[in-house]
Amino acid sequence: CGIVGIIGNEPVAEEIVEALKRLEYRGYDSAGVATLENGHLDRRRAEGKLRNLEARLRSAPLVGKIGIGHTRWATHGAPTEGNAHPHATEKVAVVHNGIIENFRALKNELAGEGARFQTDTDTEVVAHLITRELLAGRDPAEAVRLTLERLEGTFALAILFDGDEDLLIGARRGSPLAVGHGDGEMYLGSDATALAPFTDRVTYLEDGDWVVLTHAGATIFDSLGHQVIRPTQRSLATA
Ligand code: GLU
Repeated sequence: CGIVGIIGNEPVAEEIVEALKRLEYRGYDSAGVATLENGHLDRRRAEGKLRNLEARLRSAPLVGKIGIGHTRWATHGAPTEGNAHPHATEKVAVVHNGIIENFRALKNELAGEGARFQTDTDTEVVAHLITRELLAGRDPAEAVRLTLERLEGTFALAILFDGDEDLLIGARRGSPLAVGHGDGEMYLGSDATALAPFTDRVTYLEDGDWVVLTHAGATIFDSLGHQVIRPTQRSLATA
């Protein structure tokens, strides 16, 4: 339901939760955050309100400087901690708004190849598809591009990669996603409101776009994989 991603220079978990709070009005049943801790994926998730996730983070802090977060409105799979996003493999963590309509066929295909599923969500197939391409030797952008070709349905996605402190990839088809430009920091948000505390420079992705974010900036591609320029606007939303 709500997506936030930050490539920062300080620990980001608290900022991610702060941004998710700005999306609370949309409603949600669970929430989670993933960061890279010493380069490796780690996550905290909780059923219910963001204060439950904050309590988790207080007792077991995440200090990574790059991360993604999500508030979930369950469509497939009960609203439990185990089904809360981010969904992860040893290679990637993924948050998703929307519905992957062909997840059953993809799940059967991936399970047949040995992927081990941990949730009842439609979203988890995205993590396993990207992982399969990474294990086949593709670079992260190519792995995401090939994965997007397999997905049917509506989505906004934010993807965090194990071992890469300078990379977030976002994608949108049928669900909104915006890029925020900070000073040496970059942001993703399903809603520019979420990014208002951090920056007022926002680029709205167009339908079918996907974006590669590093500390240095954003490179946007359309659904055909061609690099495109989308206008950056001064957002009217204020912190
Ligand atoms: N379909 C996904 C799920 O049920 C995402 C729901 C959402 O947009 O929050 O986990």
